[in-house]
Amino acid sequence: MAVVRLDSKECPECGMPLVGYGGSRKSDIMIIVGQADESDFESGKVLHGSWNKPLYQELSKRKIDMYSCSLVNYYPHEKPSTRTKVAREQWERCLKLSTDKLLKEADGKRFILCVGSEVTKFFLGYGDVTCSGIPLTSKFFSAEMVMGIQSIQYVSTNSCGEFCLALDRFSEEVFKRRKYGNNK
Ligand SMILES: [Zn+2]
Repeated sequence: MAVVRLDSKECPECGMPLVGYGGSRKSDIMIIVGQADESDFESGKVLHGSWNKPLYQELSKRKIDMYSCSLVNYYPHEKPSTRTKVAREQWERCLKLSTDKLLKEADGKRFILCVGSEVTKFFLGYGDVTCSGIPLTSKFFSAEMVMGIQSIQYVSTNSCGEFCLALDRFSEEVFKRRKYGNNK
């Protein structure tokens, strides 16, 4: 089996340019978004483009610096057209590879925020972020608290009430658990 370099700039499966992880890898908080935005492609790092504003600002208000968190993307790169069976299978392999990489990166993280319905559905099993703002655990992660939240694109065009409430809860849980440990 070929050795897959996790730090390569192109997807080892299909050759498309990868969007790299951002923020600080040492953080105990990890933020997972579905796909990178076009504004991320310029910097080559996820959540480093202008689209991150709603999340960056709302986290800042709650005393969490987004760039001090580990920032990762579930999609490794732009989603290609998946109209044919071959293309769909190819995309499945790209996703599998990026998921394996993401799980390695999540090792040792205490708190994980799943942004958007696709990420939340995959890692927490709830569709359409019906679990928004509820502290949960995931079979995929050793993290003591995993939370789902609406997508950034959603709050950019809609009211951000639920999004803000969920971030209230997320930051409360993080600070409480950092202070007192995992005693719920
Ligand atoms: Zn690929």
